[in-house]
Amino acid sequence: MLQPETAQPERLAVTPREPLIDGFGRRHTYLRVSVTERCNLRCAYCMPPEGVDLKPRAELLTYEEIARVVRLFAEMGVNKVRFTGGEPLVRKDLETAIAAASQTPGVECVAITTNGVRLKRKARSLRAAGVNSINISLDTLRPDRFERITRRKDFHAVLEGIEAALNAGFHNVKLNVVVMGGVNDDEALDFIDFVKDRSMEVRFIEYMPFQSNGWSEGRFTPWRETRAAIERRYTLVPHPQNAGPSEVAKTFRIADSPASVGFITSISEHFCDGCNRLRVQADGSFKTCLFHAPETTLRDAMRAGASDDELERMIRTALLLKKRQHAPIEELQQLSNQTMTLIGG
Ligand code: SAM
Ligand code: SF4
Repeated sequence: MLQPETAQPERLAVTPREPLIDGFGRRHTYLRVSVTERCNLRCAYCMPPEGVDLKPRAELLTYEEIARVVRLFAEMGVNKVRFTGGEPLVRKDLETAIAAASQTPGVECVAITTNGVRLKRKARSLRAAGVNSINISLDTLRPDRFERITRRKDFHAVLEGIEAALNAGFHNVKLNVVVMGGVNDDEALDFIDFVKDRSMEVRFIEYMPFQSNGWSEGRFTPWRETRAAIERRYTLVPHPQNAGPSEVAKTFRIADSPASVGFITSISEHFCDGCNRLRVQADGSFKTCLFHAPETTLRDAMRAGASDDELERMIRTALLLKKRQHAPIEELQQLSNQTMTLIGG
C-alpha cells in the first residue's frame, strides 16, 4: 500500500504540463475523485430503490493508481481535489489517499464530501492526513424525515459527525442540503437557525434528475424560492467569493452571523460557462461533465502499462469532447444517465 512518505520525493520530480483547456477556453483546475461505489445510506434522490450493481474491488482504482491520477492532473494545473463516493469514509484507510494528494505538488486544497455517518471517528485523522475542507450532506433536521429520505436511521450519527468536524478544527464546514418539494423544502429557515451561531455554510442544492431518483417538476424547487423563504426572516448579504468565474455556489453572508448560505443552482441557472471540474469515478472512468457518460477509462490504460504522456493524451482528447453546456432539463429527464452514487456528485 502506498505510504504517505513515498509521495514526498516525487515533489521534486514534478514536470509541469500544459493546462487543461477545453474547446471553449475553460481551464480545468478541480478534480473530483470517487473512491468507492459503496454507501451506508440509500438516499432516495441519489440511489435507485433497487440499488446499484457494485463492481468487484479489483475493478476499482487502487490508492496507488489514484495517487498517480492526482499527480498527473496536478501536473496539468489541477489545484483542488475532492474525494467523494458513494460514501468515501466506507473505504478503508482513506487517509492514505488523502495524504498522498495533499503532498502532491500543485495541490492546494484537498476536500471531501461525506454523509457524516462515520465522521465522529474519522474527523481528526482526516484533518491530520491533510483535508482542508469538508462538506457534509444532511437534507433534514428531523429524524423521521431523515429515515424516509436515506432509508437508514443514522440521523444522530450525522449530527455527531458535524460536531466532530467542528471540534477537529475544520473552519469551513459546509452542509449540503438537496431541496425537494414536498419533502424538505419547508426546512430552509430551520437550517439557517442550525448554522447561524457557528462558522459554517449551509448550501441548498437544486434537486437534479438522474436515473430512477424520483425527480419530477413538482418536486423541483428553484433556488430563488428557497432564498425568498430565508429572507422572510434573515438578511442575506452577497459574499465577495461570488466573484470567481468557477464558483458554483451563489453565496451570501447571513447578517449578524458568522455563518453563510450558498445556493447551487445547477438546474435553474446553470454555471457551465465557468465550469472547471473534471471527474474520475471509482473504476477509473473519466468524466468531463456530470451529465455526460464517461469519455474514457484511465484504469484500463494504466493497467495496460500506459505512460503518463499516453494518459495525458487520452485526457486531452476526452476534454476536447466536452460540450459547452449540459442539456436543458426537459432532455436531462429523458437521459438514462448513471446514478449520482456512482458518479460521486
Ligand atoms: N456520500 C457522500 C455524501 O452524500 O455527501 C458523497 C457522495 S454524494 C453522491 C455527493 C453529493 O451529491 C451529496 O451532497 C448529495 O447530496 C449530492 N446529490 C446526490 N444526488 C443528487 C441529486 N439528485 N441532486 C442534487 N444533488 C445530489
Ligand atoms: Fe450515499 Fe451520498 Fe448518495 Fe446519500 S447522497 S446515497 S449518502 S452517496
